[in-house]
Amino acid sequence: MSSLAIYNTLTRRKEPFVPLVPGKVGLYVCGPTVYDFIHVGNARTFSVFDLVVRWLRSSGYAVTYVRNITDVDDKIMDRARSRGEPIEALTERTVAAFAEDCARLNLLAPDSEPRATRYIGPMLELIGVLESKGLAYRGANADVYFSVRDFPGYGKLSRRNLDDLRAGERVAVEAAKRDPLDFVLWKAAKPGEPSWPSVFGAGRPGWHIECSAMSCRELGETFDIHGGGWDLQFPHHENEIAQSEGAHEKPFVNVWMHSAFLNMGDEKMSKSLCNFFTTREVIESLDPVQGGEQLRFFLLRGHYRSELAFTRELLEDAGNTLRGFYTALREVPPGEGEADRSHPLAARFRDAMNDDFDTPVAFAVLHELRAEVNRTRSPALAGLLKALGGTIGFLQADPEAFLKGGVSIDAGKGGATIDVDALVAERAAAKRARDFARADAIRAQLDSAGIVLEDKPGGATEWRKK
Ligand code: AMP
Ligand code: ZN
Repeated sequence: MSSLAIYNTLTRRKEPFVPLVPGKVGLYVCGPTVYDFIHVGNARTFSVFDLVVRWLRSSGYAVTYVRNITDVDDKIMDRARSRGEPIEALTERTVAAFAEDCARLNLLAPDSEPRATRYIGPMLELIGVLESKGLAYRGANADVYFSVRDFPGYGKLSRRNLDDLRAGERVAVEAAKRDPLDFVLWKAAKPGEPSWPSVFGAGRPGWHIECSAMSCRELGETFDIHGGGWDLQFPHHENEIAQSEGAHEKPFVNVWMHSAFLNMGDEKMSKSLCNFFTTREVIESLDPVQGGEQLRFFLLRGHYRSELAFTRELLEDAGNTLRGFYTALREVPPGEGEADRSHPLAARFRDAMNDDFDTPVAFAVLHELRAEVNRTRSPALAGLLKALGGTIGFLQADPEAFLKGGVSIDAGKGGATIDVDALVAERAAAKRARDFARADAIRAQLDSAGIVLEDKPGGATEWRKK
């Protein structure tokens, strides 16, 4: 049996995964800054780490999954101000909306979801340790900075050289810093901004210190896997390493994982480029029953380290493929009991997932399995298809309900909705009364609303979306 190998950004190599404590994994993922709905690029990263957690658990690891919430930040303050809304009201609302989006994408809730504003104490403690070790200093503007030149390993994750980095900084801008690369740990309070009292004076934390403090509280000074989107490598994760290793003088994280971008055209989808779709608007544009899993499938069927372009065609294609899997499970209901994990296709699926979460190969194996199910009509193989899909959070819906999709379908005329089940029943009644004109009219009406009817032997009628 293969064992798991993960690409580690720190070493730029795929390495056998060896947890610190046998059988256990501590995993920390940088979560959202809560000022607005997440876009589908954010959803990609969170879905990737959901897949990682599920696969680790399916492989028998006891995973402690931590994903933080950044609820103090300039963007949050700006948004609250421009909306005339208290900051807590904005962040609470956004956290709740994020949880809804995660549920639609079938993302597991983390074991712990620490919020920055509730960990100010641990952050201040950490800054205190850094100061006592000569790694932090108070700038002329009363902000507290990390002194990058005093931490020898700076740049090791993103493989950047300090001199090159410095050359890219505009030195004059922040005269309060000793070195242009120094970054803020604690920002002195400004009128109208949230602040907390501290030995450094009233203020609020910088972004990077949050993750160092919260990950340490939740997972310890050294833990197994730290994840986030590609863009977080520098400076965020580099700075996390500097803070945590600077303070604790031991390795911070064994494996760094970064998921590639979701792009619009050739550009990263991002709020600042205004080229984004929110996760909820994409799901709501799809079938109400199928949409969440369809988007999840679109986001995860490519490899997590390959960039992915967001297009309607690819999203539709993901829907068609997913419906194909569910159709096989409807035609051949999975057998009761344990799936046969010793089947060669199960082994190939496991090998693919163990090879740095190679979902393109894993889904190709599921395609083969689907073809086998269709060919053999074996409930045991259908059970295996469902079980393997389940290891990574797919194919667990009732196939009949999934393929029917939303019961009320927008017929496209003034937003009117039609009740498909009621119309199917009315058509059956019309046929029994030999009113074939009415029965045909209903079929045509459903057809124009994108519903296909399949009359089964014995008189029953099944329907699905086109
Ligand atoms: P943010 O709320 O902007 O800090 O982003 C939350 C997470 O989403 C981070 O891990 C980012 O790296 C990730 N992220 C942001 N934009 C994208 C994108 N276009 N594709 C994939 N991940 C992204
Ligand atoms: Zn972080």
